[in-house]
Amino acid sequence: MAHINENYTKLPGSYLFAEIGRRSAAFAASHPDADIIKMGIGDVTRPLAPAVIEAMHQAVEDLATSEGFHGYGPEQGYDFLREAILHGDYLDRGIELEVDEIFISDGAKSDCGNIGDIFATANRVAVCDPVYPVYVDTNAMAGRAGYYDAAAEAWTDIIYMPTTAENHFSPALPSQDADLIYLCSPNNPTGTVLGFEELEQWVTYANNHDAVIFFDSAYERFVTEAGIPRSIYEIPGAKTCAIEFRSFSKTAGFTGARCGYTVVPKALVRDGVSLNALWNRRQTTKFNGASYVIQRGAAAIYTPDGAKQVEETIDYYRTNARIIKEGLEAAGLEVFGAVNSPYIWCKTPNGMGSWDFFDLLLEKAHIITTPGAGFGPAGEGYIRLTAFSDREATQTAMARIQQLLGCA
Ligand code: PLP
Repeated sequence: MAHINENYTKLPGSYLFAEIGRRSAAFAASHPDADIIKMGIGDVTRPLAPAVIEAMHQAVEDLATSEGFHGYGPEQGYDFLREAILHGDYLDRGIELEVDEIFISDGAKSDCGNIGDIFATANRVAVCDPVYPVYVDTNAMAGRAGYYDAAAEAWTDIIYMPTTAENHFSPALPSQDADLIYLCSPNNPTGTVLGFEELEQWVTYANNHDAVIFFDSAYERFVTEAGIPRSIYEIPGAKTCAIEFRSFSKTAGFTGARCGYTVVPKALVRDGVSLNALWNRRQTTKFNGASYVIQRGAAAIYTPDGAKQVEETIDYYRTNARIIKEGLEAAGLEVFGAVNSPYIWCKTPNGMGSWDFFDLLLEKAHIITTPGAGFGPAGEGYIRLTAFSDREATQTAMARIQQLLGCA
């Protein structure tokens, strides 16, 4: 008789986006003429850069000839992309890494979820609260989360580190020992960033405790302010304690095309075993590489034309983020994030609940947002908006919110 992984039965339903979808669909059905603006889901809307499209067209042509045909590629990714990343994202910025420390994948979600494969079940996991739900759910699937306490909306064996306005969105070091620590900067959902000193204390903690930091920098290209680390490896000592995840999704429009990468330094050793070797073993066994065409497209981001075009698109979203921040502030709301991130984390007015404010904005301003409570208990009292809509919709949304809150 086959037995299932019981951990899956302990997972709560994927409540957040299903519930947002349900409420939005119900509203749309009863208000067929409403012009609903979507600022909830974190998907991009601008097309891929022309240089990327051109490279992908060329790659398709390659596949059409026997000389250019590519079958199974290296599981770790093609060297043309690994080298481009190594130089563009690390060496040129003064960070020493080697090409075989970079593993190409079909996106950061897979890697953030799969990394747990190479760690024991007994590890104690620490996450920020609010948090990108993939970190928590994948650890729950692996049996690292105890049981789900529905009243607390939290897993019993996960260390939740409140990351709120009160601590300037910089979580305190945990009082219990943590073995696997997830940090995300620029952060989803709060849009805030961790500075050098803050990351230094985590690197020191991890090295002292033989812990491992999973540093998710999927949004690093949105960093605009000087003095904000974009890679954990800008912190001395990080190579002996940190794995970094990166994605081309939000930075270059690859949410549909799918490509990202993970850095596992060779200096990272636990239980006397190289994590780079373990991850390589995991990937070569369970993953057959990202597609040739997509990797060619991703490499084009590192050409002068591609880099310029991608930057233009990011600037478009940055401007949206600024419009949202200023628009919400003009409506009298307290706003975080937005400056180094496409996410805007907004405090609800007068202590309103996240879902109540979500409903108000949907029903009275016809805007879909994401209730902060869906990202963890400490997200209650906030909503998240994204800068990925088009410009006109973004401006219209702000005018509607100002009118609704009596500030227009
Ligand atoms: N990490 C964070 C923090 C994210 O917000 C997302 C996507 O929303 C991902 C990873 C996943 O990115 P990808 O599209 O590369 O799987």
